[in-house]
Amino acid sequence: MYKYFTEKELVCRHCNKTGMDDEFMQKVDTLREKMGFSFPVNSAYRCKNHPIEARKAFPGAHASGRAIDIGVSGEEAYKLIQGALEAGFTGIGVSQKGPTRFVHLDNLESQNFRPRPHVWSY
Ligand SMILES: [Zn+2]
Repeated sequence: MYKYFTEKELVCRHCNKTGMDDEFMQKVDTLREKMGFSFPVNSAYRCKNHPIEARKAFPGAHASGRAIDIGVSGEEAYKLIQGALEAGFTGIGVSQKGPTRFVHLDNLESQNFRPRPHVWSY
């Protein structure tokens, strides 16, 4: 169980399957505590049949249960990125254009098809 997240927020939105990695979520929960502002969950676990995952050539970070998209922008996004770097998250994706703004965090290891550490935009 987590202090700041419910199971329902973390399930695959396509099939309601749970699949988040517990160690990863403990890290996110600790970061949330430190940040002191809310972490709206845009996307957490996505099974391999989720429409976004199904079209990928290689398994996506969200299918591993070690990735989360947090719906923050502006100053909170700045603080979140700083906190995530300090906490050792290795993948940081920044989406800060248009109506759906978020910061993706994961803690995956480097693989041929997915280098880490890595920062990208959408
Ligand atoms: Zn699913």
